[in-house]
Amino acid sequence: MDSVNPETRLQMENKKLTREIKRLKKDNEVLRIANDQAARTQAYIQKDSTRQVFYNNQLLKTYPYLLILTDEKLLTVMISDVFFRYSGKFDREEIRRGVSIRELLDGVLPEDDLQILLEKCEAALRQEPVPPYLLRTVVADKKIDWQITIMCMMKEDGIAGLNILFVDMTDVINAMERAEAADKAKSNFLANMSHEIRTPMNAIVGMAEFILRDSVDETAKRHATRIKSAARTLLSIINDILDFSKIESGKMELVNDSYQLAHMISDVASMINARLQTKPVTFKTDIDGEIPNRLFGDEVRVKQILINLLGNAMKFTQSGSITMTLRHEKMDETHCRLFFTVSDTGIGIKRADLQNIFSSFTQVDTKRNRAVEGTGLGLAICRQLITMMGGSIHVESEYGKGTTFRFDVVSAVDGWQKLKDAQMAPLEQAGTAFHATFCAPEARALVVDDNEMNLEVAEGILEPYRITVVKAMSGPDAIVHFAESSFDIIFMDHMMPNMDGVEAMRRIRLMKGGEETPIVALTANALSGAAAEYKNLGFQAFLAKPIAPKSMENILRRLLPAQLIRPLEEKTEGAAAASSASAQPNDALQGAIDEESALKYCMGNRAFLEKMLVTFRKNEKSKQLETFFRAQDWDNYRIIAHSLKGNALTVGAMHLSEHAKELEFAARENRIGEIMEKHGPFLKEYRDLLEAIDARTKK
Ligand code: ADP
Repeated sequence: MDSVNPETRLQMENKKLTREIKRLKKDNEVLRIANDQAARTQAYIQKDSTRQVFYNNQLLKTYPYLLILTDEKLLTVMISDVFFRYSGKFDREEIRRGVSIRELLDGVLPEDDLQILLEKCEAALRQEPVPPYLLRTVVADKKIDWQITIMCMMKEDGIAGLNILFVDMTDVINAMERAEAADKAKSNFLANMSHEIRTPMNAIVGMAEFILRDSVDETAKRHATRIKSAARTLLSIINDILDFSKIESGKMELVNDSYQLAHMISDVASMINARLQTKPVTFKTDIDGEIPNRLFGDEVRVKQILINLLGNAMKFTQSGSITMTLRHEKMDETHCRLFFTVSDTGIGIKRADLQNIFSSFTQVDTKRNRAVEGTGLGLAICRQLITMMGGSIHVESEYGKGTTFRFDVVSAVDGWQKLKDAQMAPLEQAGTAFHATFCAPEARALVVDDNEMNLEVAEGILEPYRITVVKAMSGPDAIVHFAESSFDIIFMDHMMPNMDGVEAMRRIRLMKGGEETPIVALTANALSGAAAEYKNLGFQAFLAKPIAPKSMENILRRLLPAQLIRPLEEKTEGAAAASSASAQPNDALQGAIDEESALKYCMGNRAFLEKMLVTFRKNEKSKQLETFFRAQDWDNYRIIAHSLKGNALTVGAMHLSEHAKELEFAARENRIGEIMEKHGPFLKEYRDLLEAIDARTKK
């Protein structure tokens, strides 16, 4: 190297330096660019964050709800300006620096509600689920309904804080409450109005009926007929409205009782046949004879559904036929499902209309059906009733050809005797003899009923148990007996004039020993849910009238003090009488009473049934019934019909009992037209039965 001359060396160094300078220049340029870039980014970020703040502020300013964002210590981070409408305690800057939620909302929410909110915030911070909730606050006499939503905000390294949203729902909720109140007012109005209209309407029907009966003037009679028919139509419309509003307001209740399907169907059929007399339309039925005859349910409502569907079929069918079919399916030992169809060869329903016909107030094809009257409520009511009975309804129709409605309902079965055997129940086979399985000779029972026959029935049923029975004919009478001596059980009729069974029970409860004594309600109108209702009223149990001996035994076993119950040593008199029952059925009575049913309530004991028949005869109420009818005293008429309903059932006069029940219901609901119509035939049936009993006992 030393050999290199200095000049060359200098040149080489120079070159090297030049290269170095070039490199540095390039680096410098890169740095400058990077610098520029950074400066630009910086400026951008600056601008963006100003923008962000600007938009955030705009958002918070215009956001319609109260939004509070907090950090994880529940100190405010930002808040929408809505807040300043509710409080002027803090300004924006203070809030940005962080105010605790408690301080912030103190005075905006009442203390209790604030406490709840804070608890929910804590829960949200623990990441527990906090569902949105509604809160009604009253601050400075102003009601506000809030919907509050609390959400936890997360960032990469954990919880960032909470997002609390208050939506003011006051207007919405006010509107909703107004709508609900209006709806309720509408239903109440409909129910009250229908009721108010019905009373004078009944008077109109009743008076028209009197003119028809008493007047000799043919013109007056013709006019009265018109009045009656117009009033009837109006009444049926009002009844629809009443039913509908009852259903809407949830006040419709099914009244369950035992009834015979055979009677129900024959009633419906005879009504339809009578109404079809003027039309070239035949009414056919196809009913499976295997269906159980004795059912437990709301006969009146099932009938109403059928009559409605058949009524529509009649309205819309000018020729051809209407067919009703009935099938069944056993569900379990105590229930079956009934399948009904009603089909017609009438005008049919357009496909597009089919889905609307079950809606309330809907009539379809109104152009063509202008002449046909109705409210458009019938099918809506049917559907509701069917739903209440655990079934559903469907329709098929071909326009111009005809319509078929199908529906099913669940029914309790009161005995598996078949429909086809219903009318000719073999009398000798009445093997329903019931024998007591224990006795309680030291027990004392008080039986309270205003109806003498019911007292005798109860006494008769208690006899095999050798229980001492004291009878009282009214609430006050019962109270006197209870004050004088003690009883192990009391059977108390519910419906009694003046003081009813509930009142009497309440008074006895207040007396010495009254708290501990079991009191059993006796009722002829067993509603669904009756057991719970009577318990609520303060009874230990209830028994449906006529009393079934088996039910009585269950109650005695359950409610009598155990030490009073003794095993049976020998055959009781009752059982002996049952086996030596001698009275034979008599021809005159055979048609009027169903001995099998009667024996069911008389422990299968013919002698006892005989005794009941005598009591039934002795208690005859036909004159009273006639008197109340003439005086138009429907309240008392109803009471007589009610007691006849039960008494007739006890002696197996099933049809008479059904009739009495219809009259009782008609009187209860002020359907005077119906009473006018049914009173005569009912009285005749009753008197015929009394005569038949006379003929038999005179033998
Ligand atoms: P309404 O009391 O007015 O008869 P419904 O609810 O019972 O009301 O019936 C509603 C509408 O359904 C009727 O107006 C009619 O247009 C139609 N409809 C019902 N049943 C039949 C039928 N069997 N044939 C033809 N149309 C029917």
